[in-house]
Amino acid sequence: MLQMSGNRVAKEPVFLPLSWRAVFASLGLLLLIEGCAVNPVTGSNELTFVSEAEEIQIGRKNYLPAQQSQGGQYRVDQDLTAYVSAVGWQLARVSDRPNLPYEFVILNSSVPNAWAMPGGKIVINRGLLLELDNEAELAAVIAHEIVHAAARHGAKGIERGLLLQAGVAGIGIAVPNSSVVGLLSNTGAQLINQQYGRGQELESDYYGMLYMSRAGYDTSAAISLQEKFVKLSKGRKQSWLEGMFASHPPSEERVQANRERTKQFPIGGKIGRDEYQRATSRIRKSKEAYKSYDKGQEALKEKRFSAASKFANRAIAIEPDEALFSALKGDILAAQNKNRAALDQYKKAIQQNSHFFAFYLQQGTAQYALGLQQQARGSLEKSNSLLPTPPAHYFLGELDLKEGKRDSAVKHYRAASVSKSEMGSKAAKQLARLELPDEPGRYIASRAGWDSAGRVIVQFQNRSQVKVQVTSVLVQLTRNGRVLGEETLPLNIVLSAGKTGRLVTGLEVKQGESERLVSRVVAAKVL
Ligand SMILES: [Zn+2]
Repeated sequence: MLQMSGNRVAKEPVFLPLSWRAVFASLGLLLLIEGCAVNPVTGSNELTFVSEAEEIQIGRKNYLPAQQSQGGQYRVDQDLTAYVSAVGWQLARVSDRPNLPYEFVILNSSVPNAWAMPGGKIVINRGLLLELDNEAELAAVIAHEIVHAAARHGAKGIERGLLLQAGVAGIGIAVPNSSVVGLLSNTGAQLINQQYGRGQELESDYYGMLYMSRAGYDTSAAISLQEKFVKLSKGRKQSWLEGMFASHPPSEERVQANRERTKQFPIGGKIGRDEYQRATSRIRKSKEAYKSYDKGQEALKEKRFSAASKFANRAIAIEPDEALFSALKGDILAAQNKNRAALDQYKKAIQQNSHFFAFYLQQGTAQYALGLQQQARGSLEKSNSLLPTPPAHYFLGELDLKEGKRDSAVKHYRAASVSKSEMGSKAAKQLARLELPDEPGRYIASRAGWDSAGRVIVQFQNRSQVKVQVTSVLVQLTRNGRVLGEETLPLNIVLSAGKTGRLVTGLEVKQGESERLVSRVVAAKVL
């Protein structure tokens, strides 16, 4: 038995300073920019520590990657984007923060959804546009999102999130790259997936209707829209639950509140049914094409290649300009190892839409499989510049390794290894293979103690995802930080991924009150 009294667990010096730096960075942030401010929309006083400049920076930084991660922009019908953006600006101009750098884009996703990031960065999905009937309903959606941005709902989420992060750091978990921007840059997904509170939803409806009215829209569209959402939410359709309703839960309460609120505005105003129907005619006509595309994706997953091809071709027959459909044909070919033919399809996809990371990633993966190393590198780097992904980092790591660029390979593997995906775990294994010989303590934790007979025992934990052999450990006896004696022990312990093991060393210590044992793995190899 290990007697733990009088003994301290040795911690690797690598981890401790990092976690403390994280705490200090967070505290510094709180002390520096905490302040009291008046909410620009509601006029109420609130504690803020994300300034307007930071709001704008957060939005700018996260807007494009978030778009990419959700299908990228819909680019087949640029007139539709111009139309949505024009409606957005009519509302933004009359909002309480007309000077934010608003942007309004359509995402190429069939999931009905819309979201806003701090600084006025707003998206509406193709799938939601298909559910709306007129321009006033579109205005109701956008005005609501404008309020989320203008009233700092997302920024408040970050403020709460930051406190949470500081708390996490405080209990000793190292947050990598824990500068202010480092912490905030991870907020992209949280920003768009965050569930707004009931109060914030009501607030967004309330002021959204005010902006609608100021812009000349019929505010009753906000009621009909909310009624539609309540009805749809009862159907519990997955795409809605994952999309719009995840972040903006509809309710009878909101319908009632909108009904009350509309009494404060002049009756009438623009509905814009014809304009809206005209503007959305292409996406309505191509709705079946995207359905066919989804079925093609399903068929591909199940390796029903000829069925998948038929669905892809049907989609292309309805909407020949959509790059996703060309890329699907490429994926079907690549899955059958027909990488040359797949490349033709990816090339076509990129000609149709050169702004979406996935086409470059797929192209790069096929080029890699064909041994076209320089081309693969170019495609993968382009893909990562649009949206960093584990597979792009993994294959770039492999290319670097082949070219003897060890340090760069390590960086790519490390970036990919954060992910829980299959590629992430492959990258983690490569990383361990590269780093373990030089930094065994990073992958194999150890601690030393003594039992009641004074025998020194060392415990090991293999934190890596690979099987390792520990061949040498350093054990030190210290008092008040001073080393009284040390031994480097040769040994031979084999540990599978994640496993622990212990060693009775043959060393003995006389138990002293103020003495501590410290141990560190100094040599190990990957098996
Ligand atoms: Zn909302």
